[in-house]
Amino acid sequence: MIVGHRKHIQEIKQMLAPHKRILVLGCGTCVTVCLAGGEREVGMIASALRIAYRLDNDEREIIEATIERQCENQFIEDAIDEIQNCDAVLSLACGAGVQAIAERFPTKPVYPGLDTKFIGILQEQGIWTEKCIACGKCIVGLYGAVCPLTRCSKGLLSGPCGYSRDGKCEVSADIECGWHLIYNRLKEIGQLDRLLESAPLTDWSKSHEGGCRKLIREDQRITLDVEAS
Ligand code: SF4
Ligand code: SF4
Repeated sequence: MIVGHRKHIQEIKQMLAPHKRILVLGCGTCVTVCLAGGEREVGMIASALRIAYRLDNDEREIIEATIERQCENQFIEDAIDEIQNCDAVLSLACGAGVQAIAERFPTKPVYPGLDTKFIGILQEQGIWTEKCIACGKCIVGLYGAVCPLTRCSKGLLSGPCGYSRDGKCEVSADIECGWHLIYNRLKEIGQLDRLLESAPLTDWSKSHEGGCRKLIREDQRITLDVEAS
């Protein structure tokens, strides 16, 4: 899932300063699961804003809504009235959701209520950890399904740097050495011989360094067969 974290209420207030009628818009998918931007958090942030504005004797109207996904037009339709009838949207979606709302409503100010952190998992109650930097060409099959780009602090593909101690990374004793994990995992699945293979060359054209990325699936596209008559 995409993991997000709520911005501080002061930062949110600062962004919303010019607007009187504000929609706090939640997203029912990733950010709901990571307890950052779902219906419950919409209620919490809306209440916090109301209290903050009341303490300032500042009259504002805070509206609440949550849709299933902010990153899909189909679901954005469910909040069309609320979005049209507010001065600004405080989106509690990830960065993709925020931009999807802004693109759909070009004249509407839209602000992020969350900081989008990473693609990760719930490691244990209250702790989310990064598992993927969305490099664009997944190679974890070569590494026992442990991502060297994400789990090794230096993103090394050819083997460990040599400074790991007791399974921890030299960068911090709080970080497991990605290559220690890769080795153990390959050993568990009987694929240690993979370590003898040459590491794949990185295809930077697939990474973010190549610019804003796009995924096109021809099998999912609707093609209109328009013939000139
Ligand atoms: S190799 Fe790339 S796509 Fe696969 S998990 Fe690592 S960062 Fe993500
Ligand atoms: S100690 Fe391990 S995780 Fe840290 S940089 Fe070296 S190989 Fe990577």
